[in-house]
Amino acid sequence: MNIDNSVVVITGAGQGLGQMMAVTLAQMGAQLALIDVNTAGLRKTQDQCHMLNSMARIYEADVTNEAEVEQAFLNIIEDFEHIDVLINNAGILDDGLLVQKSQTGISKMSLEQFQTVMDVNVTGTFLCGREAAKWMIENETQGVIINISSAARAGNIGQTNYAASKAAVTTMAVGWARELGQYGIRVAAIAPGLIDTPMAMQINDDKLEQMLSMVPLARLGEPTEIAHSVRYIIENDYFTGRVLEIDGGLRL
Ligand code: NAD
Repeated sequence: MNIDNSVVVITGAGQGLGQMMAVTLAQMGAQLALIDVNTAGLRKTQDQCHMLNSMARIYEADVTNEAEVEQAFLNIIEDFEHIDVLINNAGILDDGLLVQKSQTGISKMSLEQFQTVMDVNVTGTFLCGREAAKWMIENETQGVIINISSAARAGNIGQTNYAASKAAVTTMAVGWARELGQYGIRVAAIAPGLIDTPMAMQINDDKLEQMLSMVPLARLGEPTEIAHSVRYIIENDYFTGRVLEIDGGLRL
């Protein structure tokens, strides 16, 4: 798919990876529909896209809320009359070892902690994926859906909720690729390692250092490195159902 003039919906576009994806795609001429709960962040991303002469609109919506997601997609279709790409990027981290020093894993994880992370990362991906797929099928658009997973999808100490959620979004991408290929819709996932965003900065310093020692390239990834992978998936018309692992070798 040619990125120039394509309409790209990005969730979690108010900061971090979503913001960098928006700017990178704006530089290539994409039109952006930016979704987040963080209005101030959305405005910053929108300003950056406007400086690149890209049409960018913001939609304040909580991806866990079915009515808000449905309304956001209705508004996007009214504004842009089209959707080419959805990037399911909104995600949260709340676990026992990485973020809160006082807790130590499954035996201390609350049900609320588990469900909140599953809700944003899994339900949010499902709801937005459903709305985008529905529109693409009905309008015979050979679009692209990208789910942002994580290296944690393989299972990680202290990350019961986050790791399970990221395994789920990968599995959804593979299932959707099989299901939607008949319509020419491609679906893929990206599994980043440790990337330098506000999310990674929530991790305790000592834990972050320990995790970095397991990365062969011995550094955090840059948000641009994930944005380039998004670009690769959109532009490569024979890429579907696969997971791109951009993690400096963390999972080798
Ligand atoms: P971030 O915390 O910097 O940004 C996430 C954005 O999602 C925020 O703007 C936040 O407001 C938004 N968001 C959160 N809950 C939402 C909701 N309910 N509805 C709408 N928007 C919501 O995180 P990031 O590092 O940019 O991560 C982006 C994605 O990449 C996430 O899915 C994350 O799990 C994944 N990821 C990040 C890393 C990393 O090291 N940074 C590694 C692997 C995977």
